[in-house]
Amino acid sequence: MSHGLVTMSYIAASILFILSLSGLSRQDTARRGNYFGMSGMAIAIIATVFSGNVTAYAILAVALLIGGFIGARAAAKVEMTQMPELVALMHSLVGMAAVLVGYANFLDHSAGLEGAEKTIHELEIYIGIFIGAVTFSGSVIAFGKLCGKVSGKPVLLPARHWLNLGLLIITVGLGNWFLSDSESGQGLTPLLIMTGIALLFGVHMVMAIGGADMPVVVSMLNSYSGWAAAATGFMLSNDLLIVTGALVGSSGAILSYIMCKAMNRHFISVIAGGFGSAGGGEAAEVEGEVNPIEAEETAQLLRDSKNIVIIPGYGMAVAQAQHTVNEITKLLVSQGKKVRFAIHPVAGRMPGHMNVLLAEAKVPYDIVFEMDEINEDFPDVDVSIVIGANDIVNPSALDDPNSPIAGMPVLECWKSGTTIAMKRSMASGYAGVGNPLFVHENTRMLFGDANDRLQALLKALQA
Ligand code: NDP
Repeated sequence: MSHGLVTMSYIAASILFILSLSGLSRQDTARRGNYFGMSGMAIAIIATVFSGNVTAYAILAVALLIGGFIGARAAAKVEMTQMPELVALMHSLVGMAAVLVGYANFLDHSAGLEGAEKTIHELEIYIGIFIGAVTFSGSVIAFGKLCGKVSGKPVLLPARHWLNLGLLIITVGLGNWFLSDSESGQGLTPLLIMTGIALLFGVHMVMAIGGADMPVVVSMLNSYSGWAAAATGFMLSNDLLIVTGALVGSSGAILSYIMCKAMNRHFISVIAGGFGSAGGGEAAEVEGEVNPIEAEETAQLLRDSKNIVIIPGYGMAVAQAQHTVNEITKLLVSQGKKVRFAIHPVAGRMPGHMNVLLAEAKVPYDIVFEMDEINEDFPDVDVSIVIGANDIVNPSALDDPNSPIAGMPVLECWKSGTTIAMKRSMASGYAGVGNPLFVHENTRMLFGDANDRLQALLKALQA
């Protein structure tokens, strides 16, 4: 393939990636966005393979087959609830690739660069390996936290900010050593020490994040993985990788910012770690009487109401209850009731988690509302149905300054006439805090698996 054709293909792929991102930003265009992304990636791979830089076609074919097989299997097998873990693992792979490419570049002297060009190339290697290693170890810990293998509680080392600052200063110092020693080809020692420090840095950064702040960390690691890919692009002089990496890096950063705003957190504080640990005091214990309810009584309550809001949470994803929810919604709407969905920005375990599930069940988009659009309406709502949600409807976020989720905006469903809360037990949610909503005077608990209970509710409504 001629150089011009390769460049053209890269431009086409970049445009397709941009179209893909814009498509993915809306539910009704998301499918098209995915197709754009897939076509862009196919063009990118074909153009790179035939760009003339590749000589070992056999190795490449084997790698593509193995990688493609693992990716396809993982995507086909993964449950919707495990998606965030899979994404975290993917991010760690991008980080690892940046580290490996960095070392390969450092050890390969065939380019024969001199002077300023050589220094710039070495700087690319150093920064690329640093970002890659932080992304790798941070993503592995995030994976552990998301699947419950690592505790969600923040691990706060004493003087952790000083520790971080110290590590950063040492990294800069090592960079200086690396650049001056690499003249003589001796830069491997500082490079290895820096890699170790960067790995520690990633672990420390994510370990310090408290449960409810994980969404920000996940999107931040997404952004880091983009910058790691861009750094790899610089090392390999591959324009497409630089553009794609920058797209992922900047969109991830914007998403992190949006998530921070939604959770009422300062971006820098979350990055520095330690949020989700709140002030000095102990969070208040939840005390009060639990009022259970059965499906038949819930059905009667819904028959008597006009204005209903459904709040889905992680438990709806676990129970895969979205299809039954849609059936109930259709039935209630056909009976002339106003039914709307309220979506908290961090409901579930990944950004947009609930929207994806509701779209899959074909719930119409125009009755699905973001938190800001609907939160003020709760005093006029007759019944709120909370399906497997917990942290996102916890009033202590607003009333208890010692709560680990203090300051996070929540869906204020307790202001509605009655709240039906569906979950299996009185267990806490992701952030591990008690929830006074479940003992609130207007709340009735419909205990059991969400799908099972909703099926019973649907039956009772049809009776
Ligand atoms: P939570 O994790 O707070 O609560 C989910 C509730 O669902 C649990 O209390 C559980 O109670 C219940 N549940 C679980 N399985 C079932 C089932 N089969 N049937 C019925 N109920 C079930 O979820 P929320 O959506 O309220 O909040 C999301 C949390 O996750 C926030 O803290 C957020 O910060 C965090 N997070 C979000 C991410 C994102 O990007 N959206 C990423 C990472 C973390 P029980 O066991 O009693 O049934």
